[in-house]
This record gives sequence, C-alpha cells and structure tokens, in this order.
Amino acid sequence: MATSNNRRKFMATTFQSVGLTALGGLLWSGYSDEVKASPLVLRPPAALPEDDFLKACIKCGLCAEACVNRESNQNRDGSQRKGTLQMAKGGDHRMIGTPFFVPTDVPCYMCDDVPCVPVCPSGALDMPSILNEKKELDINKAKMGLAVVHKESCIAFWGIQCDACYRACPIMDEAITLEYQKNERTGKHAFLLPVVHSDICTGCGLCEQACVTEKPAIFVLPIEQATGVAGDHYVKGWDKKDQQRVQNANEIHTKNERSKQDASEYLNMEVEY
Ligand code: SF4
Ligand code: SF4
Ligand code: SF4
Repeated sequence: MATSNNRRKFMATTFQSVGLTALGGLLWSGYSDEVKASPLVLRPPAALPEDDFLKACIKCGLCAEACVNRESNQNRDGSQRKGTLQMAKGGDHRMIGTPFFVPTDVPCYMCDDVPCVPVCPSGALDMPSILNEKKELDINKAKMGLAVVHKESCIAFWGIQCDACYRACPIMDEAITLEYQKNERTGKHAFLLPVVHSDICTGCGLCEQACVTEKPAIFVLPIEQATGVAGDHYVKGWDKKDQQRVQNANEIHTKNERSKQDASEYLNMEVEY
C-alpha cells in the first residue's frame, strides 16, 4: 500500500514537473519572442541605432510619460488623446518595456521642444544628435524612420488628385514634394506624385496617418529597412564629391599601367651574369 502511495506521489510529482516545464517552455518562448526585437519597430526621436538602443534603454518610461503629458495630446474637445510613445507590453511583439510608436495609431507630432528626449537618463535617446548649430533641440534633425510610397496603391499614381500626405507633412515642400508628370498615354492628363526626400524626412508618420487609402499607401519604415546601399564601386561621374574619386581611380589605373609596363620591361631586360 505504502509502495503504491509512493508511486502515485512520484507520478504526480513527475507530471507536475513535466507540466511546469512545458508551461515554462511556453512562457519562455513567449518571452523570447518579445526579447527578439522586431526589425520594424519605430523608436522615439534621437534614439540610438536599434542594437545600441536596446542595450542602453533602462525601460524607465520617462520619455513616454513626457510625451503623454503634452498639450498636443489633447483632442479638440479637451479629452486626453493616447500619447505617441507607448511602452511595449507582452503581445506587442517588441522588446517588453521599451518605447515605440505606431504612426497609424498616433504619429509623432514633432514637438518644437522635443520633451521626450532630455528626460532620458540613459543616453538611449541621444540628445546631441538633434542639436542644431545654436545648440538648441531641433526636431527636424530627428531620424525616426523614413516614409516610403507604395506606387501601386497610392491613388495619385492612378491619376486621382490626392495630396493628403503632402498637406499633413510638417516639413511640406522639403521632406515631401509633389512632382508633375505628364500622362503619356492620354497626352492630356497629368499626375501629381508625392516624392519623399530621405535627407529631410524625420519619419514622424503624420503622412501615414493622413493617407486616405484603406491601408496607407505611404508608411514609415526604420531607416535600415527603408534604404538600400549602392556600395563603393559605383561612381556618379557627375557628382562633385565623386569627381575626386574618378580622378583617383584614373591615377591608380595609370599607375597600374605603368607598373605593368615596368614589370614587362624588367622581364625583358637582359641580365648579365
Ligand atoms: S516629439 Fe514626438 S515623441 Fe516626442 S513628445 Fe513630441 S509627439 Fe511625443
Ligand atoms: S527615457 Fe530613455 S531609458 Fe527611459 S524608457 Fe525612454 S528611451 Fe528608455
Ligand atoms: S514621415 Fe511623412 S510627414 Fe513626417 S517628415 Fe516624413 S514625409 Fe513628412
């Protein structure tokens, strides 16, 4: 009897530990999912590059608090609007406890005094990176991401007049312009197409939020995901800074020709023994 009781206890303990291990595994896999940073996450202004940001951010939430308390986060009727910066929770598929924003929900309003940045105690938000020549905070220097236009779903590319994204941009005519293009097929109509300029766009996402299509045809991606890299071996011959590179390349070529010539002369030299 004692033996069967012992066995029952043993089985119960074993099942309990197996159950706990399985539950632990599930929780861990959920946790590690959150720990793996989503490459598509948008961070507050002046955030360090993603890997460095994740190491530096101490998850204190001060940036999100400073953002939520903005007057700009009040609706017209005076009620509180959800702040731009959210702190990631389980299920958000971002590193838990880190700040992020989703432009279609609430974009960054590009506050002049950028209150979210100076409160950061860890340097995860790098204030010097958005200081202007006068050492003042300048939100126009922020690079939270880059807006990209999906031509197939942007109705301006269908010839329908729409400038919602252009009008929503706080740096209109610089970060985003409307470019005229003739409709070659009809010869009578024209397109007015939104073009984003990557050197100016801050990635605030106001254009994404304003877009009229069912799923925004203009949307912000983190810079790394939105841009390509041509590589050093391509040279724009007409670009001022590339002219020197062309000259250097010619010099190297001439030098190589010379050394090839020197080498063949050397090999053809008559050697006296
Ligand atoms: S600059 Fe953007 S993220 Fe910072 S407080 Fe203003 S709305 Fe929030
Ligand atoms: S204030 Fe800085 S350290 Fe705190 S949550 Fe925001 S980014 Fe992270
Ligand atoms: S994200 Fe859109 S609205 Fe914001 S600066 Fe860039 S183009 Fe303008």
